[in-house]
Amino acid sequence: MIWDELETSLAQLADEGLLRRRRTLDAPCGPEAVIDGQRLIAFCSNDYLGLANHPALIAAAQEAAAHWGVGSGASHAVSGHLRPHAELEERLAVFVGRERALYFTTGYMANLAIVPVLVDRHDAIFADRLNHASLIDTALLARAEHIRYPHGDLDWLAGRLAHNRARRKLILTDAVFSMDGDLAPLPELFDLAERFDAWLVVDDAHGFGVLGPNGRGSLAHFALPASPRLILMGTLGKAAGVSGAFVAGDPRVIEWLMQRGRPYIFTTASSPVIAAALLASLELIVAGDDRRAHLQALIARLRTGLDGLPWRLLPSLTAIQPLVIGDNQAAVALAERLLAQGLWVPAIRPPTVPIGTARLRISLSAAHTAAQVDALLAALRDCVDHAA
Ligand SMILES: *Cc1c(COP(=O)(O)O)cnc(C)c1O
Repeated sequence: MIWDELETSLAQLADEGLLRRRRTLDAPCGPEAVIDGQRLIAFCSNDYLGLANHPALIAAAQEAAAHWGVGSGASHAVSGHLRPHAELEERLAVFVGRERALYFTTGYMANLAIVPVLVDRHDAIFADRLNHASLIDTALLARAEHIRYPHGDLDWLAGRLAHNRARRKLILTDAVFSMDGDLAPLPELFDLAERFDAWLVVDDAHGFGVLGPNGRGSLAHFALPASPRLILMGTLGKAAGVSGAFVAGDPRVIEWLMQRGRPYIFTTASSPVIAAALLASLELIVAGDDRRAHLQALIARLRTGLDGLPWRLLPSLTAIQPLVIGDNQAAVALAERLLAQGLWVPAIRPPTVPIGTARLRISLSAAHTAAQVDALLAALRDCVDHAA
């Protein structure tokens, strides 16, 4: 039977230790998670500013539910585009300093929409090898030639751009790489895009709200110009603490995306409650310098505290702090020892990261306290002492 094959494949995943296991949380997203009655300090979420459970967002959502109801009823292009969605797009565009923004239900869908409307099978996509899965999928969907360059290797990329004969070229990159925490060389990538007349699409899932003045993101961090060839995607389920995403840029690009982006057109608009919560979130992000300063202080505290431990801490200045263990089993064993001490840090293994670089992906949030970071440091030191 055809389902017997699935059973074999599932058993194989289990044998290789690659089965994904979900845990059900019995408390809201925050630094303290509750799983199976156990209280844990969690270093897993992308809620970098601690807004996911913020009273102002909750109040905005409650008010919006009372006023607008919970469902949008249709896609944006038919009758699902309500006032809170429209307002959100206007505020997002102003916030990131672009003429127009289009709001999407998820970042995955925004990425699936943007690339195929700009390039097709006559064209070429140049993508960083460590890009997020959604950027790989959108390149496949576009059916363009898909050239993956070694992580951050500008010379390699320049050589390929110079020799490629495609009609249109598009450079595709994460701004902050999600498993390493490092920044893409965006000013240099923008120069290459100018030199070779290419689009530059930047996925700022992990920079939006965190980096740049007022948290305006990675493009603002590097003070890049509002060029028509530069297209920004930002997600709203990470630092913004809710869900959804946006694409911002030149009004012609955004209009074309709205007309032609299939993952935009053929899906129901997300709830107006979400849009209202995001409007409240945006205000807290703008006024969030204290939160960002606290987050930076926690990052510095963690990095200083990890100095001298036997594992390699990747050079990241963002909330994503990967501690490379190397061996898969060793990474899992370390994560389990931490868990036994009430600390939840995910172990990330291949194929999500390159073979031999299994790691603990510590993610920090402005909602963490210094004492919580210290607890993690003490537990890690304890693990070293016991291993020695
Ligand atoms: C999380 C993430 C996405 C997907 O965004 P969702 O809103 O969660 O669908 C896209 N790109 C990157 C780099 C991400 O980290």
